[in-house]
Order: sequence, then structure tokens, then C-alpha cells
Amino acid sequence: MIEFKEVSKTFATKDGNLNAVNDVNLTIEDGEIYGIVGYSGAGKSTLVRMLNGLETPTSGEIDINGAKMSTLSGKELREKRQKIGMIFQHFNLLWSRTVLQNVMFPLEVAGLSRSERRKKAAELVKLVGLEGRENAYPSELSGGQKQRVGVARALANDPEILISDEATSALDPQTTDEVLDLLLEINKRLNLSIVLITHEMHAIRKICDHVAVMEDGQVVEQGTVFNVFRNPKQTITKRFVNEEV
Ligand code: ATP
Ligand code: MG
Repeated sequence: MIEFKEVSKTFATKDGNLNAVNDVNLTIEDGEIYGIVGYSGAGKSTLVRMLNGLETPTSGEIDINGAKMSTLSGKELREKRQKIGMIFQHFNLLWSRTVLQNVMFPLEVAGLSRSERRKKAAELVKLVGLEGRENAYPSELSGGQKQRVGVARALANDPEILISDEATSALDPQTTDEVLDLLLEINKRLNLSIVLITHEMHAIRKICDHVAVMEDGQVVEQGTVFNVFRNPKQTITKRFVNEEV
């Protein structure tokens, strides 16, 4: 279980302090897919960057399975971060390495032997449906295939959480659906919690259990996808639900 408790993040900018995330309370249960929607600048990425330790909250606390992130030592934090997989809009693949080598990379960092790395990476490449493309380079793949490599790489260290930050934004609708289907399959098969950041309500409706709507750093509405779609309360939520962007 992941708990955000009164989490805020303020950045000092040349124009003064900017409250990127403002007093957020959220609970993400094990094995669920939790959607986060909001317009650009709402604070979505900053929120998940705190979850994987790339940013530190200015105030508040994030607990992962009861462990307070702020009390972890440097070593413990690095271990925790290995257990949080992340996929991105622009894939962030290593362009000079093959599909298999991309997936092997985090295993190299984790210190597995070469043969263990190959075996594990080959299994993951198969899991994401890229069997036969192990030796292709990212530039030879379609957008959807590139994101499958991203997913396989994110799963390399058997994560407890997978964070998807706009991972389907660069894909066409059909490819988006295929990647969402893959995420749902992985969620079910591995009982993996997924945090899905998106602009697309379609994605939320298709695979999420719960959803939070962010505006100006705050979570202005949250609940089950069923309830939020059936009875959106805030103006921004109504806009998202009705536009189905
Ligand atoms: P998008 O949908 O465009 O990705 P977002 O909801 O992910 O937006 P964030 O990237 O979390 O939004 O940014 C929230 C606010 O915090 C924005 O105003 C942004 O400019 C600001 N911000 C984010 N990171 C930093 C930083 N490192 N330094 C200063 N300001 C930042
Ligand atoms: Mg973002």
C-alpha cells in the first residue's frame, strides 16, 4: 500500500515559490491501477517523482508498505527505487543497444551475472510480446513496440509499483489500447500496483480502479472510476468526463 499523507512540494523559482503539489492525501492499494488526471502543470509528474525518490517532499510523508520514505538511508532508498519501475512518454530507451540489451541494463545495475541477465531479459521480452525482436534496435521498432521494451525494462527488477507517466501520449489510439491492454495483463498476472498518469479519460475508464483528479497541485476529486464517471462533482472533472479527451 502506498500512502501520501499531506504531501506538498514547493519549488523556489526566480518568480518566487511555486506550490507544485499542495497537501495531497492519497491511498493506493496493492494490486490496483490508480489513475491520475489533470491538465498540464497540475503537479502529476512531481507527485510521482516524489514516490520514486527523484524529488523530496517539502512537507508531508509518503509511506510504502508502512515504511516512511523520509526515514530510509541512502542505501535503503536506492533499493526501494529499484522496486519502482517507470515508463515514459518518450520511452527513454538506450538507442545504441538492442531490445534485449535495453532490458538487461537494469539487471546489470542490480549486479546479476551475464547469463542470469540474458535469461531474465528474454523472459520479459516474451512477456511483452516481442519474442523474435530481441536483436532489433529501438529505431527499428514502432512506437507501441518501443513502449513494450520500456515496460519490459521497467519490470526487470520485479517492481512493487509501476509508474506510467503519459506513456501512451505519443501513440495513436489503437496502439494506446494495445499498451493499455498489456498494462492490464501485467497488473493481473503479477498483481502489480500501477500508477497511471494520463490526459486521456479513455485510458482511465479502460483499465483503472480508482482515479484522482489534480488541479493546481491539489487532488480536487478522487474515488472509484465508476463513481467519478457516474457522478463527477468538480467542474474540472465534469470537463474531463464529458470531453473524454
Ligand atoms: P504535464 O501534464 O505537462 O506533464 P504535470 O501535471 O506533470 O504537467 P508537473 O511537471 O508536476 O506537472 O509540474 C507542476 C508545476 O511544477 C509546474 O508549474 C512546473 O513548472 C513546476 N515544476 C516542476 N518541476 C519543477 C522544478 N524542478 N523546478 C521548478 N518548477 C518545477
Ligand atoms: Mg508531467
